[in-house]
Amino acid sequence: MRTFEEARRDITRELGLIAHPGALKYESVSLRNSLGRVLVNEIRADRLYPPFDRSLRDGYAVRASDVAPNAKLKLIGELKAGDTPQISVAPGTCVQIMTGAAVPQGADAVVMIEHTRSEADTIVFDRPALAGQHIVPRGREAAEGQVLLVRSARIGFAEIAVAAQVGAIDLQVYRKPRVAILSTGDEVVSAEEKPGDFQIRNSNAYSLAAQVTLRGGEPVVLVNAKDTEQDLHEKIARGLKEDMLVLSGGVSAGKYDLVEKVLRDLGAHFHFDAVAIRPGKPTVFAICNGKPVFGLPGNPISTMVTFELFASLALELLSGAQAKPLAFLDARLGESLQEKTGLAHFLPARLTWPDGTPTIAPLKWQGSGDLAAVAKANCFLYIPADRSKFECGETVSVLPRRDVL
Ligand code: AMP
Ligand code: MG
Repeated sequence: MRTFEEARRDITRELGLIAHPGALKYESVSLRNSLGRVLVNEIRADRLYPPFDRSLRDGYAVRASDVAPNAKLKLIGELKAGDTPQISVAPGTCVQIMTGAAVPQGADAVVMIEHTRSEADTIVFDRPALAGQHIVPRGREAAEGQVLLVRSARIGFAEIAVAAQVGAIDLQVYRKPRVAILSTGDEVVSAEEKPGDFQIRNSNAYSLAAQVTLRGGEPVVLVNAKDTEQDLHEKIARGLKEDMLVLSGGVSAGKYDLVEKVLRDLGAHFHFDAVAIRPGKPTVFAICNGKPVFGLPGNPISTMVTFELFASLALELLSGAQAKPLAFLDARLGESLQEKTGLAHFLPARLTWPDGTPTIAPLKWQGSGDLAAVAKANCFLYIPADRSKFECGETVSVLPRRDVL
C-alpha cells in the first residue's frame, strides 16, 4: 500500500502530464477580481523603484558632513511627498522633508525630526549623521523591467499590491478548473430534504464544494448517484466532461461499493486504490479520458482529509500553480497519546495557545463519520505510521485547516 507521500508523488507526476502550462486555458481578469488566481505571465517593474531618492522619515534633508552634535543649519524650505524638489541643499542649510518625499539636490542624508530642535530659522541637531541614512536611492528596490511576480504565482493581497504599483490592472490568469463533485449512496438524500429514519443528508457535496472553492476551483455539484452500475455510469460519464472529478463513497469493500468497477468499465487507469492513512484508506486516484478522478471514502471526515491530502494537490496543479508540500506546523502535544502503528493518522484536533506556545489536543471522536467533532477541530494531528507512543509535551506535526486557522 502506498504511503501518503508516495500517493502525492503519483498525483504530481500524472498531473504534470495533464496540467503543463501549454495545456491550460487562460483568460483575462481585472486586478480587482484576481484574488486567488494564478498568473500566466510574469509581471515586471514599469520604471525604477523607487523612481527618485526617497525619504524614509519625517525630518530634515541635510549634507551629512554638515551635521555634528549641536550643529546648526539654516532652514531654507520644505518638501512634502509628491512635491517636485526645486530647492537644493547648499553647505550650512537644510530642508524639512516628509516621509515619501524626494530628497533634494545636495542632500545625502535625512535626520529624523526627533533628533532635532528648531531655533528661530535654524535647526539644531543633537547627533551626527551618516551619508545615506534614511534614504532609499532611486532604483534600489527594483530596476526597470525587473520581474516582480513570477509566472504561476498565486495572487494574494501582496501580489495585488505589486500589480497595482506597476499599473497592471488587467491580468492573464489560468481558468479556474471545473471540478465535478459526485456523491454516491442509496442512503444519501439532499440537504433540502427531510431524511427518512435510516437516511442521511448529503453533507459531502457541500464540504467538497467548499474545499474546491477554497482551493481556487469551480465546483460543479452533480445529483447524488445511487449505488447501481447504471446510475454511476451515467453520472461519472457526466462528471468526466469537467476538468476533474471527485467522488465520495462507494470505494470500500462493500457489496454496493461499485465506483471502481464502473470507472474501470469507463477505461480508467488506476494509480492507487488504497493509501496507508487513517481516516481515508480506500482512496482511489485514476486517470479516465485524460481527466484526474478521485474516489474518496464517504465518511465525512475521511472525505475531507483525503481531499486535503490528495485532490487539493491535483487542483493546485490544474490551476497552473506549483505543487507545494503539505504545510505542517510544529506544536506541543497537550497530552500523552497511544495509537496503532501501520497507518499514518490525521486526527481531528484543536490547536490553542494557552501560554503562547502552540499546543495541540486531539478531539474525542466516534470515528470518521463524526462531523460534530471535526467542526471543533481547527487542524489535523499527524501521527507517522511507524510511531505509537507520544509523551505529553513532545513536539508533533499538525496540518492546519486553512479555512479557519
Ligand atoms: P461509503 O464510503 O460509501 O461506504 O460511505 C461510508 C459512510 O459515509 C456511509 O455509510 C454514510 O454514513 C457516509 N456518507 C456517505 N456519503 C455521504 C455523503 N454524501 N454525505 C454524508 N455522509 C455520507
Ligand atoms: Mg456508499
